[in-house]
Amino acid sequence: MATYDVVIIGGAAHGASAAYHLAADPGFSGRILLIEQDPTFARAATALSAGGIRQQFSTPVNVSLSLYGIDFLRRAGELLAVDGERPDIGLVEGGYLFLASAAGADILRRNHALQAGLGADIVHLDASALVARFPWLATDGIVAGCFGESGEGWFDGYGLAQALRRKARSLGVELMHAEVAGIETASDRATHVRLADGARIAAGAVIVTAGTATPRLLVPLGVALPVEARKRYVFSFACRQALPRIPLTVDPSGVYVRSEGDVYISGASPPDDAEPPADFEVDHSFFEETIWPVLAARIPAFQAIRPGRAWAGHYDFNTLDQNAIVGALPGFDNLHVATGFSGHGLQQAPGVGRGLAELIVHGRYASLDLAPLGFQRVADGRPLTEANVV
Ligand SMILES: Cc1cc2nc3c(=O)[nH]c(=O)nc-3n(C[C@H](O)[C@H](O)[C@H](O)COP(=O)(O)OP(=O)(O)OC[C@H]3O[C@@H](n4cnc5c(N)ncnc54)[C@H](O)[C@@H]3O)c2cc1C
Repeated sequence: MATYDVVIIGGAAHGASAAYHLAADPGFSGRILLIEQDPTFARAATALSAGGIRQQFSTPVNVSLSLYGIDFLRRAGELLAVDGERPDIGLVEGGYLFLASAAGADILRRNHALQAGLGADIVHLDASALVARFPWLATDGIVAGCFGESGEGWFDGYGLAQALRRKARSLGVELMHAEVAGIETASDRATHVRLADGARIAAGAVIVTAGTATPRLLVPLGVALPVEARKRYVFSFACRQALPRIPLTVDPSGVYVRSEGDVYISGASPPDDAEPPADFEVDHSFFEETIWPVLAARIPAFQAIRPGRAWAGHYDFNTLDQNAIVGALPGFDNLHVATGFSGHGLQQAPGVGRGLAELIVHGRYASLDLAPLGFQRVADGRPLTEANVV
């Protein structure tokens, strides 16, 4: 039977990052296996994401994770080069622009103080400063906004995951194309990973980074994660009028839009009581009836647009507090998880992968303490609520 020191289930952004950070850790010399059921990643959130990175969160650990994230993305070409070939992950530091009405003004200011205090390069602008800086914006009903001068923007999530996998493989990580059917345990340890074809692999430690499939793999072990698949659309469109590059602009309604090359992409979360079924169908009426009217009012140039490609992906949505669940699972010394990212997980892949590697190699978080994202808060019913979910 094949035996590995660490087996990672799910090979998209988080699995690949954990594999890379483990393999790159000078304190680790074990064998690592990364198992992925679908090497096309057609339904992985990583490949369907909007690819944004921001420091504009309300939870301190999320701000810190994205500060590491942007540092990693800026250096990805050098860190993830293989045989002198530097990957291009298409990082554009185009900024996020969060807009607030009177009702949200105090929260915006509080969040800004938190973000700036942690070292994020975010400016707080009143309505007149917004107009001066972003003349394409209609500020009706807006009293203030926060803009990331640097360190925020977007990148190619699929490209990042590919580059992490390629680098991990060059450092000795083995990649396997297979579906994991279950995790076997003995007393307080995960011992084997069982594949759908019946094969068993012995594991010194297991990391589950299977996205929305993670809870299903853990139910048989008596672990209930408050994480479910929630469908989110991304709609692209072209605009007749030429505009300067639009930062990822978040209207107080929750509708967002940003430049993507010569076109724009947009989206919004539906209200809780109107969640669509978790399939991959696109409901184009959501753009026409919910998104476009907000965009056309907020950015008048968007009154004349031509809709383009649209797609749907699944958030691994944490119904407790919209934050990730990361680290060891209760009752098991060597079984780790990273899921529940609720729409901000791609940018956290570098920091979470580093944290999981540290837990396994050093038995504790050595750089950034991810304990606030641990399962314990779920067990205790103590939500760490993230207010800025886009
Ligand atoms: C529309 C949309 C927009 C988003 N926008 C952003 C954004 O702007 N910024 C941001 O930071 N985040 C964003 N996200 C969230 C982000 O994409 C995810 O949080 C992140 O990609 C999760 O990565 P992952 O590796 O944990 O999971 P996934 O990318 O879902 O990958 C899980 C992998 O596990 C594999 N797998 C599952 N079960 C098994 C099994 N039994 N055996 C073997 N393999 C298995 C799957 O095939 C898959 O490849 C967005 C998500 C969506 C859907």
